[in-house]
Amino acid sequence: MTETETRTLLVDLAASLFARGFSVGSAGNISVRLDDGGYLITPTNSSLGRLNAERISRLDGDFQHIGGDKPSKEVFMHRAFYTARADAGAVVHLHSTQATAVSCLPDVDPANPIPPLTPYFVMRVGRTMPIVEYYRPGDAAMEPAIHAAAKSARAILLANHGPVVSGKTLTDAVYAAEELEEAAKLYLMLRGAAPRLLTPAQVDDLLTTFG
Ligand SMILES: [Zn+2]
Repeated sequence: MTETETRTLLVDLAASLFARGFSVGSAGNISVRLDDGGYLITPTNSSLGRLNAERISRLDGDFQHIGGDKPSKEVFMHRAFYTARADAGAVVHLHSTQATAVSCLPDVDPANPIPPLTPYFVMRVGRTMPIVEYYRPGDAAMEPAIHAAAKSARAILLANHGPVVSGKTLTDAVYAAEELEEAAKLYLMLRGAAPRLLTPAQVDDLLTTFG
């Protein structure tokens, strides 16, 4: 995919997320790795609903700003994933309501707060999705904490903040963020209802079959 095509896809996917309420105002940011080793990331204070393809921030392979508008202040969340995971081709950070609600619950397992309720959550997000403890937005200490968690997870929940989700491609990362939001919604609906979960064998089978 050319850089121009990637910019167009980023605008379209971000607008779709915004239109369906996955982000509001200027919340959320999305990045994607380009074939030359650099990155595109949504600009600071931009709305996912109204991105301009030509003004998306362009970073080099060292995450230095080399074109477009000033990048998101949360660029280090994205860097944490790219440096932790060779398979990360894109990163989506949202403040989506249901996943953020789960990130605020004190009585969940911080290593894996959302149980395996559906196959698509397991296939898109993986076996585990830990909660990373709360940091003030912009706190530099957040990056090493996300980096450590991302080594063994494709997605994390920032406590009292929201999800950060990686994928092999931009479309994969967006779909995984959507699946996570739906899984969080199901989990909140079923809390206290003792739902039937996928068994460890069923989770293994999914991961073996679908990678
Ligand atoms: Zn945020």
